[in-house]
Amino acid sequence: MSARQSVPRDYYEVLGVDRGSSDSEIKRAFRRLARDLHPDVNRHDPEAEEKFKQAAEAYEVLSDPERRRTYDAFGHQGLRSGGWSPHTAGSMEDILASFFGGGDSLFADLFGGRRSGPAPGGDIGVEIEIALAEVLTGVTRGVRFEAVSLCERCRGNGAEPGTPIRTCDTCAGAGRVQQVRRTAFGQLVQTGACPTCGGDGRIAEQPCERCEGVGREVRERTWDVDVPPGIETGQRIRITGAGHAGESGAPAGDLYVGVRVADDERFERRGSDLVTVVHVPATMAMVGGRVTAPTLDGDREVEIPAGTQPGHTVTLDGLGLPSLRGRSRGDEHVLVDVVVPRKLSREQRKLAQRLHESLEE
Ligand SMILES: [Zn+2]
Ligand SMILES: [Zn+2]
Repeated sequence: MSARQSVPRDYYEVLGVDRGSSDSEIKRAFRRLARDLHPDVNRHDPEAEEKFKQAAEAYEVLSDPERRRTYDAFGHQGLRSGGWSPHTAGSMEDILASFFGGGDSLFADLFGGRRSGPAPGGDIGVEIEIALAEVLTGVTRGVRFEAVSLCERCRGNGAEPGTPIRTCDTCAGAGRVQQVRRTAFGQLVQTGACPTCGGDGRIAEQPCERCEGVGREVRERTWDVDVPPGIETGQRIRITGAGHAGESGAPAGDLYVGVRVADDERFERRGSDLVTVVHVPATMAMVGGRVTAPTLDGDREVEIPAGTQPGHTVTLDGLGLPSLRGRSRGDEHVLVDVVVPRKLSREQRKLAQRLHESLEE
C-alpha cells in the first residue's frame, strides 16, 4: 500500500467499513483511525499524517448523508463535479477540531475514554447578612437554596434501580453528534450534545421513576456556612463543590456566599477599626469626667480630661475588629462630641453668665 495514490481510494476501504455501515459505525471507525494515527500516539509511522488525511476525507464524505448518497451513486467523480473538495488543508489538529470540536474536548473525545467532556455543574450564589458583632467572633450560618442534585433513587445514572443501561445508538456512546452549519465561510462542522441520550452516551432501558431518566433533580439543600472573623460586606465565601451537580462524571459547581454586614448604629467601620461617638456636655469637657462608650466587648468607661476639645478622640486599643488574615484586632476610636445645652433654667443661666464674666477677665 503506497501513501500517495493518483486514483483516490475507496472511502469505505479507507475507513475499513462496509458499504452498508451505519453512521455510528462510520464515526467509530474514524475515531479509531484518528486515535491510532494521531502524532501524539503514533511517532513511528512517517505516513501517519497522510493516512490520517485520507481518513478525514473519507469521513467527511461518509458522515454527511447527502454527500454519501452522491458518492455511492457516482463515486469520486460525482463529488468533484458537484463542486465538493475535501477539507483536508491545515494541521491534523485543525481537521480534528472541525469534526469533534477543538481544545480539551477534542483530546478528551479521542483519548479520554468514552465521551467528550460531560458538562460540570453550574455555580450558585446566595446572600447572607450577619451582625457586626459576628464579624468579631465569626459565625456559622445555615443557608437554604435550590440546587440540581443527583437523583436520590438512581444515584444519578437515570436507570430504575436494578435495570440495565445500554450504549446510545445515535452517538455510539460518544455523547456528541456532528452538526453541519452553513456559514459565509462555507460549511462548518461542529459537534453538539446527542439529542437521543442528551450527551450521556448511555440510555437507561427503564428510566428511573423519580427523575424520569435524567439522573438529576432539583432539591432544596441546606448548608452550614462558616463565616470567618473579620469579613467585610461584599466579600464572598466560596464552597467548592456545593453548587449544582454536573453531568455524570463531571464535577459539581461551587456555592458562592455573598456576605453583607448589617449596619450597627453605634459604630462606623473603617477596615478593622471602629469609630463611635460619645456626647459630652460642654461643662464636662471643661472640667473633665467620665462617659460610657459602647464597644463590641461591652460598655467601657472613658476618661474625659479637663479641657477636652470637640473632635478629640480617645483610642481604645485592640477593641476593633480582627482582620481576615491574622487575628490581631484593630482599635476603637471614641470621638468626643461636645454638646452645648440649648435651654437653660434661670439658675443655670446665672451660673453660666458668671462663669462667662470670670473667663472674660
Ligand atoms: Zn433517578
Ligand atoms: Zn447518544
